[in-house]
Amino acid sequence: MGNGFDFSVERLAGLGVPGGKAPASESGRYTGQSDEADLNVGHYKRSPQDGGINVPLQNGIGAGTFYLETFGCQMNEHDSEKVAGVLLARGYKQVERTDEASVILYNTCSIREKAAQKVFSRLGEYRTTRKEGQVIGVLGCVAQQEGEDIFERAPWVRLVCGSASYRKLPELLAQLEAGGKRITGLDLDTDETFETEITRRDNPWRAYLTIIEGCDKACSYCVVPYTRGPERSRASASVLEEVRQLADRGYTEVQLLGQTVNSYADPSARRMRFSELLAAVAEVAGIRRVRFTTSHPRDFGKDIVEAIETVPGICEHVHLPVQCGSTNVLRAMARTYTRDEYLEKIALLHGSKRAISITTDLIVGFPGETERDFRETLSLLDAVQYDGAFSFKYSPRPNTPSLKMDDAIPEEEKSRRLAILMEKQREIQRARNERLIGETVEVLVEGKSKRENQWSGHTSSNKVMNFTSPEQKLLGHYVQVRVTGASPNSLIGEHTKA
Ligand code: SAM
Ligand code: SF4
Repeated sequence: MGNGFDFSVERLAGLGVPGGKAPASESGRYTGQSDEADLNVGHYKRSPQDGGINVPLQNGIGAGTFYLETFGCQMNEHDSEKVAGVLLARGYKQVERTDEASVILYNTCSIREKAAQKVFSRLGEYRTTRKEGQVIGVLGCVAQQEGEDIFERAPWVRLVCGSASYRKLPELLAQLEAGGKRITGLDLDTDETFETEITRRDNPWRAYLTIIEGCDKACSYCVVPYTRGPERSRASASVLEEVRQLADRGYTEVQLLGQTVNSYADPSARRMRFSELLAAVAEVAGIRRVRFTTSHPRDFGKDIVEAIETVPGICEHVHLPVQCGSTNVLRAMARTYTRDEYLEKIALLHGSKRAISITTDLIVGFPGETERDFRETLSLLDAVQYDGAFSFKYSPRPNTPSLKMDDAIPEEEKSRRLAILMEKQREIQRARNERLIGETVEVLVEGKSKRENQWSGHTSSNKVMNFTSPEQKLLGHYVQVRVTGASPNSLIGEHTKA
């Protein structure tokens, strides 16, 4: 993305799919994104309406203040919105600098080793720089995975809390305020979801909403089932009530989140299917767009494609991580589908009446992946023609079954495969985007460039659109844009009144 947009377009452009960074943060950055680019780091900005305990500064630190930084996927970003909401409601005030904060929180990611290392290097900075009285806390996946070992590695950390225990966060902070030296919240056996009415949302138009937490799949390379616990879905009525509130507050786009969002199982007597929930959310007055991520291929069915076809408000985009194109490797990954079964799901999407864009996550260099397996991944890219992909080098993670697998692929070979994969995907995206030149598409305007008449937003298919318009007030509006140019990661266009 070009810099110079004064709204945080970069953040909006990140998917996260929990794939990243979606999602990571999801989006235009899907494109050929690699390991190296995968650390989504977000700082929550203080807004004027944020409350706060009005306590005089001591030692340069405002008592009752917090600094919160987020690593990782869209689910983490959204968890941070909820954590911020809970703390603000308790009277804490959010600050943008660590040296002003009485509580410094890192919401962490441990999906790949590099992500976890980054957290520890950030914590290491406090060995010498922390101020007396500051509470440093680790939240999220690294907290859940490393547990109390964090106190050994970084003895200045006083709070370690996994995502399944965020409900207890105010209580845990109260214990610290009351003089507790070190506190942990690491229970995973909760069957609750982290619902809160006081989420502090960071994006003025798109609201994120977790509808299912945790993961029951057991992919052999993945830490998520260990760090986020079992799947827990939120009751459909509660989801819909929150969507109505969001619409009342002016949100027009809602993104439903879950590690396996389409494995949603309504726990209420209503037993609403995921595809029905999508349609019901889209029907809420005021909601113009509904997105969802991440879908697991095993639970992806025709009913979801039919919902997209029949309900215009459901965006024409599906993030469907495949991970690899070889059935042998998929089996070793315990992904629960074969190459052919995955391609059957893709055929449903390709056969749709709407032009549904498809994005994915890919891992290269899984233990035992042969050159032939890798070539099968490349041929899968040809067959599917993805609009975006997050690609990663396999990273061995603690506690996962694949850690003990033989035939590790050397790092240089992983890098070679990743580069080939990304280059191929880049060219596919370039061609796919170029095919859109001349079409007119609807864009939600999310950013304004410092350059005159330059705007940015997303299409329903989740492509980033940079366009020109002489209008002055477009932020948050839906406009028609004619595509005049294309690159692998974004479209160029001009506002049309048509
Ligand atoms: N639940 C989603 C799914 O199954 O597709 C994705 C969740 S995970 C947070 C996002 C992506 O990280 C995965 O799709 C996978 O590509 C990647 N990933 C997970 N574990 C990994 C590992 N050990 N090494 C490299 N990439 C990994
Ligand atoms: Fe991890 Fe697999 Fe669950 Fe996705 S489905 S979160 S990759 S275990």
